[in-house]
Amino acid sequence: MGSLSGTVALVTGASSGIGEAAALSLAARGAAVALAARRADRLDALADRIRAGGGVALAVEADVTDRAEAAAAVQRTVAELGRLDTLVNNAGVMLLGPVVDAPVEEWQRMISVNVMGLMYCAHAALPHLLAAAADGPRKVADMVNVSSVAGRVARNGSGVYNATKHAVGAFSEALRQEVTGRYVRVSLVEPGAVETELAGHNRPEILDTIRQRFADMERLQADDIADTITYIVTRPRHVAVNELLVRPTQQQ
Ligand code: NDP
Repeated sequence: MGSLSGTVALVTGASSGIGEAAALSLAARGAAVALAARRADRLDALADRIRAGGGVALAVEADVTDRAEAAAAVQRTVAELGRLDTLVNNAGVMLLGPVVDAPVEEWQRMISVNVMGLMYCAHAALPHLLAAAADGPRKVADMVNVSSVAGRVARNGSGVYNATKHAVGAFSEALRQEVTGRYVRVSLVEPGAVETELAGHNRPEILDTIRQRFADMERLQADDIADTITYIVTRPRHVAVNELLVRPTQQQ
């Protein structure tokens, strides 16, 4: 058993990429993990994998852009796993391209998932995180919000994605100040380019541009960011890692 024994984590966007890797990593340290996303088949397969390794997992099909579904995912986690010590707010979409003549529904999708979805999950989770910090096994609770290098540096061609991730940074810092005195640590993780399915949802011409940009670069793997998240949530109670920006070595 690891240092997260007796704790419960909810990971959003657990059906692929960083969320999937984070769920495996937290489970390996003894956390019971609730896995939230829309693709139930992927969640079931991951839950089976975690259980086969001796862990505890719960698949929770949820679209975080629906406030009721986000709240229900938190409630089901607490009802079935008993508590909530850690929220990894990771679900996100990245739809890049120029602002001029952009399909505005892509903006709406990004704001719905990356900003509102993250905030709905945070809102529903906070009472449970505060309770865990008051009398849980570690007397501390964590909310890890996954932003991006795009939340630090704006670039021509990713304006609205930049806007959503800057929003995540602002929200996280304000919330950190609000709850840190009560031992709920709010952390921001800002990955650079990670090899996942994320870019695959872009229009073909945009996807080509993204592929060219990273063609010769050794990108991060989802496990690298899972390590980062696990590092944050396994610090002693008096240590809060507020923010970590992790780029592939070659990324400028
Ligand atoms: P993936 O596309 O592999 O994962 C995204 C996850 O988000 C999936 O599990 C997806 O599940 C979930 N998701 C998307 N929409 C919703 C929704 N409406 N409700 C619930 N879940 C949803 O990409 P990554 O693992 O790379 O992305 C994870 C996070 O990391 C994102 O916030 C992204 O912005 C951030 N990030 C990624 C970087 C990269 O280079 N890959 C760099 C910087 C940040 P499903 O479709 O089943 O619902």
